[in-house]
Amino acid sequence: MTNYTALKEFLSNPKKIIILPHRKPDADALGSCLALSAYLRKAGHTTTVISPTDYPKFLFWMPGQKEVLIYENGKQNKAKKLIEEADLAFCLDFNELSRIEQLGELVAKAKLKKAVIDHHQGNIDFADYYLHDPKAAATAELVYDFIQLDGGSQHLDKKIAECIYAGIMTDTGSFKFPSTSSKIHRIIADLMDLGINASRIHRLVYDTSTENRLRFLGYALHQNLTFLPEFKTGYFALSKKELKEYKTETGDTEGLVNYALSVKGIRLAALFSEKEGFTKISFRSVGDFSVAKLAAEHFNGGGHVNAAGGIYYKSLQETVDTFVKILEQYKEELHKSSE
Ligand code: 5GP
Ligand code: MN
Repeated sequence: MTNYTALKEFLSNPKKIIILPHRKPDADALGSCLALSAYLRKAGHTTTVISPTDYPKFLFWMPGQKEVLIYENGKQNKAKKLIEEADLAFCLDFNELSRIEQLGELVAKAKLKKAVIDHHQGNIDFADYYLHDPKAAATAELVYDFIQLDGGSQHLDKKIAECIYAGIMTDTGSFKFPSTSSKIHRIIADLMDLGINASRIHRLVYDTSTENRLRFLGYALHQNLTFLPEFKTGYFALSKKELKEYKTETGDTEGLVNYALSVKGIRLAALFSEKEGFTKISFRSVGDFSVAKLAAEHFNGGGHVNAAGGIYYKSLQETVDTFVKILEQYKEELHKSSE
């Protein structure tokens, strides 16, 4: 779904643009923002990337990262001013303004135009322009498409390519998820021709853990992971106390939920993390069991068929109890879900 032509028309002269990823941006959200920002600057526009929250340290290598404004880190007034002055806001890797919290309220009120580039399921009801494809493997894939549609491939460079590569690499599970189409491999070939060092990016994202994080992983796998074979489900439920005890930082739980899915016969995995006043949830599935639907119907969330998330405004224990109770109604579906 796209009305790209109208956006191209709008961008035909220099504009002031803000670019926004969802809260706690991952490599796809942040990489997409940084790639688009660098591209739009080359095309003559003025851009600022504003993130609602901080993000993992393993993304600090990304070209342009240092210039990102982090709203929650005392940048509220600066962000407010930029939003008031901007002609256009690009929303990347999300399609509901609630996913950028207070920033969403500011953007909704502002006079600027809104554009969405995203690959999550959902109906976009707030944007003037959109490039939305739930079949796309990553938002970074759509940013690459956007640059091609814009006739701007001469502006693609190594730094932009590195950001796009990181987004596609992480959202395809290092090119193993079913979303890894031949088109994805062609895009990657093009990015490699721009001089990126793909294995370096892989190391920077996946192999720069702290010792703490690895010890925490050991703890979580050993002491925290629960399996419910009758529902073909495995889940982690991490309390604030546990997260603190292991000195976890933003990003330290990234990827953890997938371990539950690596066990034979498990079709559904969840990770519950206790926060201040709510529980954050990550869901993963294999086959045709839709966690986007599960998250949207019960946990104020959404996402993709096999990877989704949500927020539940209850304690950790109440959230887990609710989840286990809800599983009863999905039991049959989980048992017949094909791989
Ligand atoms: P993760 O579990 O890695 O945080 O997220 C998995 C997928 O679900 C990502 O594509 C992410 O953007 C999406 N997602 C995570 N949390 C939420 C949420 O609270 N609401 C919605 N709509 N999507 C989410
Ligand atoms: Mn994504």
